[in-house]
Amino acid sequence: MNMPDNILEEIFIKRSQQKKKTSPLNFKERLFVLTQDKISYYDYDVDKGKRKGLKGYVDTEKIKCVAIVLPDDNTPPERLYPFQIVYDEGPLYIFAKSDQVRKQWIRELKNVVQSNKDLMQKFHPRFWEDGMWKCCKQEDKKAMGCRVMESKNGGFLNRDNKSISRKPLPPTPEEEKLSRPLPPQPPVSSGFSVGMTVIAEYEYTPMASHDLELRKDEEYTLLDINDPNWFRARDKYGNEGYIPSNYIAQALNGLEKYDWYCKNINRSQAENLLKTENKDGGFLVRDSGKFTGKYTVSVFTKVGGETVGNCRHYNICVTAQDQFYLAENHNFSTIPELIIYHQHNAAGLVSRLKHIVSNRTEHAPSTAGLGYGGWEIDPRQLTFIRELGNGQFGVVKYGKWQGRHDVAIKMVKEGSMSEDDFIEEAKVMMKLCHENLVQLYGVCTKQRPIYIVTEYLANGCLLNYLRDGLQNPTGIMLLEMCKDISEGMTYLEANQYIHRDLAARNCLVDTNGTIKVTDFGLSRYVLDDEYLSSAGSKFPVRWSPPEVLLYCKFSSKSDIWAFGVLMWEVYTMGRMPYERWNNTEIVEKISTGQRLYRPQMANERVYSIMMSCWHERADERPTFQELVVIIKDLLFNM
Ligand code: ADP
Ligand code: MG
Repeated sequence: MNMPDNILEEIFIKRSQQKKKTSPLNFKERLFVLTQDKISYYDYDVDKGKRKGLKGYVDTEKIKCVAIVLPDDNTPPERLYPFQIVYDEGPLYIFAKSDQVRKQWIRELKNVVQSNKDLMQKFHPRFWEDGMWKCCKQEDKKAMGCRVMESKNGGFLNRDNKSISRKPLPPTPEEEKLSRPLPPQPPVSSGFSVGMTVIAEYEYTPMASHDLELRKDEEYTLLDINDPNWFRARDKYGNEGYIPSNYIAQALNGLEKYDWYCKNINRSQAENLLKTENKDGGFLVRDSGKFTGKYTVSVFTKVGGETVGNCRHYNICVTAQDQFYLAENHNFSTIPELIIYHQHNAAGLVSRLKHIVSNRTEHAPSTAGLGYGGWEIDPRQLTFIRELGNGQFGVVKYGKWQGRHDVAIKMVKEGSMSEDDFIEEAKVMMKLCHENLVQLYGVCTKQRPIYIVTEYLANGCLLNYLRDGLQNPTGIMLLEMCKDISEGMTYLEANQYIHRDLAARNCLVDTNGTIKVTDFGLSRYVLDDEYLSSAGSKFPVRWSPPEVLLYCKFSSKSDIWAFGVLMWEVYTMGRMPYERWNNTEIVEKISTGQRLYRPQMANERVYSIMMSCWHERADERPTFQELVVIIKDLLFNM
């Protein structure tokens, strides 16, 4: 019987909750019923198809997180699609029969819980089993998650902001044309608030008249955080002005200003960082666990000059007199003093702390625009240095803004763009700010040709970089590139911004090898029939899913398809997809289920990610948010 207030009903396999470490794991079929107030599960008579006794329930208002779980290797086929409902007693693990059913439940559950208090911003992507989280190896069941919930959609992380609720269905082509993208939301709910003291992580020289200078490691007080990209702040001398919100960190324990303090990393992430740096005596300081208020020093050594080193972890202990020590007999009143001492003396450690390893990026990130407020740039402040290339809209040049800041300038050839529409859109694009998106700095619209001014990336276009620039890339390097792109795309997806032309030619490479996505949404302003019509010679047929080729139905799911093809470009070092087929053949073969082959550099797991992007049905494809988790997990285990 289906009660009228039931939102969903389904038979799932439920894992026992292991409330005690020693209680055995078992898996039982239960009938799950979701209502606004409760998710209940019942014993079920398979033969009669009837609901029997109530076995348990969770009040929906107690739910803190709903997310997929990554299945273990060798998982039996009936348990391939697990998800978790986390509440105060820990996670409840449920196994769906298909990814589609799982998605439907997660979506509905997220709807039901979206205004709950204390929704988690981090979660554990793998199971809690035998007294340990399998993802991060932490042994405290209450330990905070080790992965950030990437989604800002589903209203999940956005309860303080005007929440964007995810559209229930992909828009029809007509809706698509009408719907304007919403203004973007701030980067993952940052925890900043007015009155809070923050520390500058980078120097910032004012670019506009209302900006405030930032000096690295100094403290500032936040005065206004309404614009997610530009906060108003006061320095210790009483000066006030706007600062880029991605240049600061919360001051919590006074350690933020030290490069050796790596906030928010766990033991295995610390080991990864230290191993990547690969220097004897490399060290960092991290939180011992979440909310413990304790710290651990992680050190890397290569004893006797071996090539492979290993990591040691030392807890910073506190005496009854509030003194800190690592090795007995050497007590200090502050942690920085303790670190300075051990930078000079091993005193019981495997090595003295020789070399600071930091998880901060060396270069300051791009700001959302050149200073607060302005998106119109005065062309007299631009100098042109050299030509970078020629694109759909004409010449692109490298130059400087105010003689100091690197910029790329697109000089939009007259007649190639619907300019007024684009200029309107540029105001929205300016607000999109993410380390894996090429930042739009502003536009010059008072003259013809108009200019589009963006961040400059010295290593140029990813396609050329793959074809000529990379010598003997490793699997990790290629997957890192895919991770970068998927992170930028997750941000676009969360802001319901569709790229429409994602491909290696529309990604750029930074000096340090970071990949950033560019030209998002721009194709809507192209004036060129060859580019606009799916039958045109410039239409990106090779990157398009069936629903785009057949119905021009663009969505984040069509971006996902393109992402799969882009991964394929990465793993083939920039080959042309479906090399030997022409556009007509491609449409025909794609509609009959044919797909790109597995590139030699891609192992089965990497190829299965690509293939998941090429599901015939758009709703069977993963979201970017899910892809990031899967890719990071693969990287983590490499
Ligand atoms: P369009 O979008 O008009 O087709 P493109 O973005 O393809 O133009 O730019 C043409 C070429 O200019 C690219 O292939 C790339 O090599 C170079 N380029 C474009 N933007 C940048 C940038 N921001 N930084 C560095 N090089 C760039
Ligand atoms: Mg381009």
